[in-house]
Amino acid sequence: MIDVRLTAVSKRFDKSSDAAAVDEVTVTIGAGEFFTLLGPSGCGKTTTLRMVAGFYFPTSGQIHFGDDDVTHWSPNKRDTGMVFQNYALFPHMTVAQNVAYGLRVRRVSRTERDRRVSEALAQVHLSGYGARRIDALSGGQQQRVALARALVIRPRTLLLDEPLSNLDAKLREETRTEIRRIQRESGNTAIYVTHDQAEAMAMSDRIAVMQSGKVQQVGSPQEIYYRPTNAFVARFIGRSNVLSLPVVGAGENRVEVRLSSGATIEVGAATGHGLTEGDTALVSARPEHITLAGGDEESALRGRVTHVEFTGMATNLTVDCDGTEVMAAVIDAPATINVGDLVGLRLVRERLWVVKP
Ligand code: ADP
Ligand code: MG
Repeated sequence: MIDVRLTAVSKRFDKSSDAAAVDEVTVTIGAGEFFTLLGPSGCGKTTTLRMVAGFYFPTSGQIHFGDDDVTHWSPNKRDTGMVFQNYALFPHMTVAQNVAYGLRVRRVSRTERDRRVSEALAQVHLSGYGARRIDALSGGQQQRVALARALVIRPRTLLLDEPLSNLDAKLREETRTEIRRIQRESGNTAIYVTHDQAEAMAMSDRIAVMQSGKVQQVGSPQEIYYRPTNAFVARFIGRSNVLSLPVVGAGENRVEVRLSSGATIEVGAATGHGLTEGDTALVSARPEHITLAGGDEESALRGRVTHVEFTGMATNLTVDCDGTEVMAAVIDAPATINVGDLVGLRLVRERLWVVKP
């Protein structure tokens, strides 16, 4: 088990262009940690992972595996296990031959090879499948073979690039649980790439949220969900309302803002928020932290319902509050609620959070 450190890592494919595919990324991934690079398509996740694997060299910056500066090491020297979206298995070989491949390349003896292939297949719960042909397996099973093939070489780090994208929704959820179990048991440091925030939240110890080649925030799923650093992170992780509200007072970790009702409330904020009276604060409010106000209850926001959607777990409402569309997810909403109704909304104040633009 080793930690992986990226220090100001940048990659420019086109030296003449200003835009870097990966722009000054600095993160430390702890030994044994399950760490996810999360962001929209094109934000630089794959490029970052390929630099860790050694398929690309950074234009600038350093990559360390433990005490080793591996920045310019070739991929085979790095001992990384890679798993891709499209499995990249050899269709004409058996499961065992596919898993054994990396050991053959490394000239591991036949007996040792057989022992380690059995061990890797057991790890991914595919004991007894060794003689099967790849094309006789389901997508989920093929992805587990790909995982076994990565694990069998006993890699120093496990790198996974959108490994679940080709699976249907139900299998994707089962397989993500399975990948996490296998990673825990093997104790590997894992770097996982996905654009799917629910997947990232469910699997990761920590997440780096990326946009346009830059890391926007690094934190645990809870930190990123409850304390997003800026409006992009707030909106990308789950759904969030970002309300613009006038500041009437401020402290080190709080900002007092005025609601359209005239009432003022205190909202949590990161140290160094820099807001003072007279500024406008951006306040992130998750839909599930906005509920319908009771009849005589003071409501933070009032508006007209423009959309109603029953999801089973909650009723999603969109409410037009003085020209701002506010999303609320209400549990046990009255079945009578309709588009055009005038409603009052209540905010769960402890869960509001000031974000940067
Ligand atoms: P992601 O994996 O987050 O979808 P990528 O790392 O694949 O993003 O791509 C980041 C950016 O770098 C994109 O703008 C992409 O077009 C560009 N890019 C990726 N690979 C290459 C390449 N081999 N040559 C030129 N540009 C590339
Ligand atoms: Mg990618």
